[in-house]
Amino acid sequence: MSFKIKVDDELCMGAQRCMFLAPEAFDLTEEGIAEVTDAGTLTLEQAEKVAYECPNMAIIVEKD
Ligand code: SF4
Repeated sequence: MSFKIKVDDELCMGAQRCMFLAPEAFDLTEEGIAEVTDAGTLTLEQAEKVAYECPNMAIIVEKD
């Protein structure tokens, strides 16, 4: 199943949990907000785990 993953920059507080769990998929912008740099490195299962682990529920996974 394909999916999209994005960060809600209104909710992200830059805790960097996503970068710890999936450093190849996330990076921090100059504003201190996470952004998805390479969603292709994640499986759907990994994406859902990172979203679950985000303390601010700022990571949104949309299944196609
Ligand atoms: S884990 Fe959530 S709050 Fe922390 S940087 Fe990533 S998206 Fe932002």
